[in-house]
Amino acid sequence: MAYDFDLYVIGAGSGGVRAARFAAGFGAKVAVAESRYLGGTCVNVGCVPKKLLVYGAHFAEDFEQASGFGWSLDEAQFDWPTLIANKDREINRLNGIYRNLLVNSGVTLHEGHAKIVDPHQVEINGERFTARNILIATGGWPQIPEIPGHEHAISSNQAFFLKELPKRVLVVGGGYIAVEFAGIFHGLGAETTLLYRGELFLRGFDGSVRKHLQEELTKRGMDLQFNADIERIDKQADGSLKVTLKDGRQLEADCVFYATGRRPMLDNLGLENTGVKLDKKGFVEVDELYQTAEPSILALGDVIGRVQLTPVALAEGMAVARRLFKPEQYRPVDYKMIPTAVFSLPNIGTVGLTEEEAREAGHEVQIFESRFRPMKLTLTECQERTLMKLVVDAKTDKVLGCHMVGPEAGEIVQGLAIALKAGATKRDFDETIGVHPTAAEEFVTMRTPVAG
Ligand code: FAD
Ligand code: NDP
Repeated sequence: MAYDFDLYVIGAGSGGVRAARFAAGFGAKVAVAESRYLGGTCVNVGCVPKKLLVYGAHFAEDFEQASGFGWSLDEAQFDWPTLIANKDREINRLNGIYRNLLVNSGVTLHEGHAKIVDPHQVEINGERFTARNILIATGGWPQIPEIPGHEHAISSNQAFFLKELPKRVLVVGGGYIAVEFAGIFHGLGAETTLLYRGELFLRGFDGSVRKHLQEELTKRGMDLQFNADIERIDKQADGSLKVTLKDGRQLEADCVFYATGRRPMLDNLGLENTGVKLDKKGFVEVDELYQTAEPSILALGDVIGRVQLTPVALAEGMAVARRLFKPEQYRPVDYKMIPTAVFSLPNIGTVGLTEEEAREAGHEVQIFESRFRPMKLTLTECQERTLMKLVVDAKTDKVLGCHMVGPEAGEIVQGLAIALKAGATKRDFDETIGVHPTAAEEFVTMRTPVAG
């Protein structure tokens, strides 16, 4: 049977665009449907605008520290609408770039909500198109628990478009988004409380990293409330929010921001017209080739709920395009040693195993750890400390994990990730000459283990 397209991609986000562009580049006839915004979550309400806001928030400490270097500034003023308007302009520019990328690579762009009507057919804007393969790349959506008054809370989707900076913000959650946005609001001058239901935020990150960030955020004056959960939210006559916790305490805020994870975006997608199966958490179930239970339908990115990061969605998109249309170049995605950063202030950068994971996996470990006051701060009042940590296999000398909390941790860990992927040993680290004076050189000068 002749199909309208070889591949019909639903969702022009990180993974969908990558798969569509490369598939078209390999000579396939490709369409991509997008209902909301080109570039998806990352470009519009994720990585990119978030990082711009983090940069904005970082200026607070730059201004504070400048006087130690002889600069005197009048009292710094911050204007939220200017930051948001400039951010919006940049995102518009990126939307245009994504449009050009798709069109110039020969992909047919359909703007609207796509619904799968049978395993080889998609309906969009009242028209139907057939395809040999359909790729679900529809991403995720913020999930707010349905407590009484949840309608008064916002998620990251709204946070990027607030008309003004709230005076008092309560951020709920202990993952990437909660920690990053608490840093943004706090840095920009809002009174910020981070409320997390567990003992310590950032579950799954290395214990030293979690503790160190807790100490640093506390030093900066952020209100961290752990073992705390919201029972209800009530709007008061003056528009402010009264938040009642499960332990009976009450807090007041102007904005309650939930960052409690993301669900797969499957709304009105028509999966009931296919044999696609979902896993226990509701994400689309795929095999190692991103194949769903329906032979003609594939899925990747956040909607499969594996690793919800843009570079991972990009790698999956590439793998799918190659497997379908350039099999001789196909290489499976390697999910080991995925580096990641949390753009909290200070940043976290991490790659490889945490100390806890390494011990659990049965490694006999050596731990190298260094905490120091970065040189840049020596002329300032700021008492912030940087943490660097290496987890090493005592038997093989392989470096299993690198972890950092401090300025530019994400930038530093990217390079270390290459070393770890190449199987670097502690001896390789020791024999690497440092770049002086930098903070990063500490990673090659740690000599004495703190724990074995
Ligand atoms: P998405 O990028 O979400 O794209 C899915 C697209 O499908 C969307 O554009 C959606 O509109 C469209 N769509 C959905 N249903 C339909 C339909 N039926 N018809 C047509 N179109 C449809 N990752 C990082 O690596 N680094 C970061 O710093 C980072 N920061 C983040 C900050 C925030 C606040 C958030 C929310 C996420 C962040 N992420 C970050 C995660 C990253 O954004 C995602 O992992 C990535 O965007 C996933 O790509 P995707 O292609 O799977 O889905
Ligand atoms: P995460 O899964 O990272 O964190 C969710 C947090 O919410 C956890 O602390 C979780 O607690 C808590 N939580 C979940 N359900 C509830 C509930 N019902 N009540 C109270 N707390 C709850 O999700 P995020 O929303 O922060 O981010 C989604 C994903 O997006 C991330 O996992 C990451 O992959 C990606 N992302 C990446 C970024 C980056 O690369 N810098 C930045 C932002 C997002 P518990 O730990 O107890 O389960």
